[in-house]
Amino acid sequence: MANEEKRFSTPSLDEIEKCGVTRGIEVGKINHLTHEIFPTQEVWFQCNSTTACCRYHEIPITENDIQRILDNGYELFQFIVEPSPILIKSKMKEGAYTKAYVLKKKPFTTECVFLEDDRCKIHEFKPTACRLYPFTLRPVDDDPNLVSVIVHPDSVCTSVHTKESRSDQIPLPMKPGKITLQDTKTILQNVLKIMIETELMKK
Ligand code: SF4
Repeated sequence: MANEEKRFSTPSLDEIEKCGVTRGIEVGKINHLTHEIFPTQEVWFQCNSTTACCRYHEIPITENDIQRILDNGYELFQFIVEPSPILIKSKMKEGAYTKAYVLKKKPFTTECVFLEDDRCKIHEFKPTACRLYPFTLRPVDDDPNLVSVIVHPDSVCTSVHTKESRSDQIPLPMKPGKITLQDTKTILQNVLKIMIETELMKK
């Protein structure tokens, strides 16, 4: 049991830094106009349903997400951090800030307001970031039609495998067999589907 605990425990910051996780790993690109996908890094993901992502992350939420939740009978004050939008430090540019709406936490906790009995109360219309997780999107500087798909197999999500996954910290569940670019392709197709369904790239 002690070994099992170690095997699936949270990696230290040192270990995370060593495998480049803090910077995120680009696993591929998507052209959101032509819908072409370009896998670049082998990755495999299967949600482990720990709900850790619902407990420890700040969840950014788009205006389309907000509208979908309102359309399903919730009121703004129930799920948006006020005052909104707030300014958050940009992860892309040193010293820059981005305007953002952020999903509310339950009082005095780090837990999302929509988490109930380890389940998402709004699963059918949850925010885009939740649907994409543990992947995120980043614009590509020299081509506005491309977005980079980034994974952060960090201390919260233990269900991502990349080539950098450490043999002593193998996340659950394990993929039987080798991770290939075909796995990445499947993930990118799903990311593209979410982008289309949530109208993420529409101006
Ligand atoms: S909206 Fe649902 S999936 Fe997203 S953080 Fe909250 S409980 Fe988790």
